[in-house]
Amino acid sequence: MKRQLRSWEEDLVRELLETFKIAHLTQNKEDQWRWHLEPSRNYTTKSAYSQLLKGDTRPAGDFKRVWKAPIPPKVSAFCWQLLHRKLPTKDNLATRGILTDTSSLSCCWCDTSLESLESPDHMFVNCNLAFTLWMKCYKWWDKQYVMGNSRRMVLDQHKWIGGQKLIDKGWNIIWFAMVWTLWLGKNDMILKKKEAKVDCFFELVQTRSFYWAKNTAGMDGFSISTWCQNPVNCLKIKPN
Ligand SMILES: [Zn+2]
Repeated sequence: MKRQLRSWEEDLVRELLETFKIAHLTQNKEDQWRWHLEPSRNYTTKSAYSQLLKGDTRPAGDFKRVWKAPIPPKVSAFCWQLLHRKLPTKDNLATRGILTDTSSLSCCWCDTSLESLESPDHMFVNCNLAFTLWMKCYKWWDKQYVMGNSRRMVLDQHKWIGGQKLIDKGWNIIWFAMVWTLWLGKNDMILKKKEAKVDCFFELVQTRSFYWAKNTAGMDGFSISTWCQNPVNCLKIKPN
C-alpha cells in the first residue's frame, strides 16, 4: 500500500507539475535546449537578467524582493535558499540521502512525542515556537489576520498587508528578520546548546529589522525604542 505523501513531498509534486505545464513534447524529434526570451532561441545573460527584474512572475518577483531588499547579502542568499527549498533542513538532508536515520528528522523545538518533521514550512511557520513568534510580531505591528501555513504564503501576505509603500517595505523586512532569526536560533541551539526563547528571538527580530529598515527612506532620526513602540509611525512620518 502506498503511504500518504508528507506536506513537503506534496510541495515537490506541485512544483514538478507546474514545470510540466510549460513543457511541449514532440515525438520523433531529438531533445534540444531553446531559450524563449531571445528570437535566436540562444541563451543570453542579458535577457535572463532583465526577465528576472521585471517582477511579473513569481520567481522573478522573488528575485527582486530578496536581492533588492535592504538586508545584508548573506541574509538575501539565505532567504533565496529558503524560498527554493535549498536549506539544509532535516527533510532536505534526508531527501539527499545525507540523513538516513528517519527517527532523527523531527524538529528540535517541538516535543519529540509529536514527531514533527523539520521542514522549512514547519520550522519557519507552523512550529509552535515560530507561530508564537509570528503572533508576537503581529501584535507589535497591531495587525490581526489569519496567517498562511507556508513560508511562501506568509511572505506573500507581507507583500500587501501594509497598504502604503514604506510600510510594505518595513513589513517585508519583518519576514526577512523573522526567518533569519529563527534559523540562527536553531543553529545556536544545536551547535551551542543555547535554549530557544521566544522573547529573546523577538528582541532580535526587533533589533535586526530596525537596522535594516534604517536603510529605507524616511527612517532617519528614529531610535530603536521608537521602532519597538510604534514601527508603523517610524515608516510613515518623516522627521523635520
Ligand atoms: Zn517544531
